[in-house]
Amino acid sequence: MTGNVRLTGTKVVAVPKPSRRHSQDRVCTVPECETKLSMYNSRDKCWRHADFTIPRLRGKPQGAT
Ligand SMILES: [Zn+2]
Repeated sequence: MTGNVRLTGTKVVAVPKPSRRHSQDRVCTVPECETKLSMYNSRDKCWRHADFTIPRLRGKPQGAT
């Protein structure tokens, strides 16, 4: 009787590839702004400066008569 050697347990080590992310230490490119950018944020600026324009306040302050 010959012993059958079973080949079991083929080791398949799956190495997860690191997904491309942005650096975690990015801040807004606006000099005065130190808002940290999310590593999923592909922009160079924070959400406030990326595509954000400050609406101009028109008119005089109310109450001044
Ligand atoms: Zn900013």
